[in-house]
Amino acid sequence: MATASIVSAFTRRQISLLEGKIALITGGASGIGECTAKLFSKHGAKVAIADIQDEQGHSVVNSIGPSNSTFIHCDVTNEDHVKNAVDKVVSNYGKLDIMFNNAGTFDHPKPRIIDNEKSDFERVMSINVTGVFLGMKHAARVMVPTRRGTIISTASLSSGLGGAATHAYTCSKHAIVGLTRNLAVELGQFGIRVNCLSPYALATPLAKGFLGLDDEALEQAMNYMANLKGTTLKVDDVAQRLFPASDEAKYVSGQNLFIDGGFGIVNSAIK
Ligand code: NAD
Repeated sequence: MATASIVSAFTRRQISLLEGKIALITGGASGIGECTAKLFSKHGAKVAIADIQDEQGHSVVNSIGPSNSTFIHCDVTNEDHVKNAVDKVVSNYGKLDIMFNNAGTFDHPKPRIIDNEKSDFERVMSINVTGVFLGMKHAARVMVPTRRGTIISTASLSSGLGGAATHAYTCSKHAIVGLTRNLAVELGQFGIRVNCLSPYALATPLAKGFLGLDDEALEQAMNYMANLKGTTLKVDDVAQRLFPASDEAKYVSGQNLFIDGGFGIVNSAIK
């Protein structure tokens, strides 16, 4: 009886880990962002989804429930859009607790730098780096006066490795780590935590487009390359790690959290 009540108290605590929190998730219409929006909502947060895919974004809102979520059209490369998304969250919900800079893109692999176009490089940097910079900037603008909040960005395994993705993608994900470290130092004095996540490959539309593989071939390739055998990384596993978003992680800041089953340790001398 005593054990049952301890277990049920623990379960209640887990379920309400984000109770009362307000989150803004860029790239929330698909993949990691969509899964995170659903999980955050399950754990008590209200979520705003900012994305360029309006139809998909609205369908995520419908599945979560319009009383707990909202969709905001937002191209993360456009400062007015990002500013508007942050301001809308504050005016709708009164505050912003969690900024999740997750929108990202890729370019098709061209192994030799000489074959890479400047325009492709700039497009990837613009979404993956400028987009994260703008999300950080406008989240900080509203969080600093309240002396609370947490900022999380999605980097990648390629933030700690060379040769696993294109020049532009690898460069962009290394840059997110730099931004995270700098901002964690700047915002520490206000009690605001800043971290990033670095997942291994996942079967999302982005990865399928990147590698040009269907679901089955992608799963086979991921299993073949993985260090940790017998399991495949799923979007839920990445979203579960988003509890750096909760107050449980109150002393975690400036970190790049790898969710890669040890792949980076095996494949790189430095991290
Ligand atoms: P996804 O394609 O399922 O989702 C990406 C979302 O970002 C989409 O909804 C897309 O519309 C949105 N987006 C793209 N450009 C945008 C812009 N300019 N403004 C606003 N939204 C925009 O892919 P995903 O795999 O869930 O990717 C999410 C993040 O995870 C990305 O930053 C990606 O680099 C990173 N990541 C993915 C993998 C993987 O293997 N899938 C591995 C490591 C890191």
